[in-house]
Amino acid sequence: MFDVHVIGAGPGGSFAAIGALAQGKKVLISEEDAQVGSPVKCSGHISVTGLEKMSEHINYKPAVQNSITTAHIRAGKQLFVIKNQGGPKSLVLDRAKLDAICAAAAEKEGAVLSLNSKARMPYEADCIIGADGPASSVAQAFGFPKISRFVSCFQAEFDYQCEDVHAVEVLLSEKNYPGFFGWVIPITNERARIGLGVEMPHISKRAFDGMLSEFKLEYSKCESCLSGVIPIAARAKTAGTFGKKKVCLVGDAAGQVKASTGGGIFFASQCGLLAGKNAATPEKYESQWRGAFGTDLLMHSLLHDAFARSGDGGAALMLSLGKTFMFDALLSECGEMDRASVMLKASTLQKWLGIFTGGKRSGNMETLEEKSSRK
Ligand SMILES: Cc1cc2nc3c(=O)[nH]c(=O)nc-3n(C[C@H](O)[C@H](O)[C@H](O)COP(=O)(O)OP(=O)(O)OC[C@H]3O[C@@H](n4cnc5c(N)ncnc54)[C@H](O)[C@@H]3O)c2cc1C
Repeated sequence: MFDVHVIGAGPGGSFAAIGALAQGKKVLISEEDAQVGSPVKCSGHISVTGLEKMSEHINYKPAVQNSITTAHIRAGKQLFVIKNQGGPKSLVLDRAKLDAICAAAAEKEGAVLSLNSKARMPYEADCIIGADGPASSVAQAFGFPKISRFVSCFQAEFDYQCEDVHAVEVLLSEKNYPGFFGWVIPITNERARIGLGVEMPHISKRAFDGMLSEFKLEYSKCESCLSGVIPIAARAKTAGTFGKKKVCLVGDAAGQVKASTGGGIFFASQCGLLAGKNAATPEKYESQWRGAFGTDLLMHSLLHDAFARSGDGGAALMLSLGKTFMFDALLSECGEMDRASVMLKASTLQKWLGIFTGGKRSGNMETLEEKSSRK
């Protein structure tokens, strides 16, 4: 009865359904939870450019909670500031609402959404799209190669006095957040999502307890506590034909996540669209998504490894070198949160040369020592 069976109603699944519906396919989406988007396992921080791309299919605006112009990246005493010059660079969203908006858009286009419905072999169509998250049962059922690296996360919401409601804090410390980082994402002046990730096999809950005592929050009321895992490497193969069955994996199920930040919503949505359009030709999907986003994901992976493997002193040194070479000014002017490959463009190199040789320092980055010596 259905041409395409999408497993999972996260952003990857809903956008995959939208892509398939655009090809005139009959689509079933199975979601094992009773409600789309719940329980939430996300910080809801997404680039404006990514959301604008998604807005070709959805109206994300009702889910917006805050706008972000600035990122404070800290390692030891080093503070590296990226401050966007022309308005917000990213938005903080109510993730449950965003997922509901995406699924409603797929339903409006004609998808049948089945809640409380854990999909299993043999599935309801010959074309199967596994958008079923990092522990994908579709990937297991068809014997796809495993994802090799994961980050384990813990996060909660606290009443918290934010110095700047439009600035996210990124905390690098190999001791406290091995292999990843801690974060503070303001929702309002007085409320923030505070959390961290550690590369597995480190344990995020233990690290989170340490983080709370450092923030003097161990006795504060915490709400919306969540734990989850993020894949930080793509599967070696994400699509294939198995007899009559054509299978594509999308989003976290495929490992389509930025290893540097753990952001996966944008990639899940865009790769989802490609999977939906190519549901009957999985090999085409594989080459299309790798062609469109492979370089970006590779660059995020290299950045992640450079920081994760350098230890505390190394991370501080890299931020310091970034300051010396004025990457703070460059990123403030033209940094791209998702499409890291933009940094490889000749025009970006030209911009950097202009900034570096002209000495156009924005004053965005300074060490804490420098800051306190100014005071
Ligand atoms: C703590 C944390 C913070 C994060 N913060 C951010 C952030 O700020 N920005 C960002 O871009 N990304 C963030 N991410 C990553 C982001 O959440 C994922 O990359 C994104 O959700 C991937 O979307 P998806 O559709 O592939 O998978 P998911 O959103 O995981 O959706 C998978 C769906 O499949 C369903 N499912 C699973 N198995 C079955 C089955 N057998 N049958 C039916 N349904 C099934 C699940 O219930 C789920 O609804 C974060 C992740 C974590 C863990």
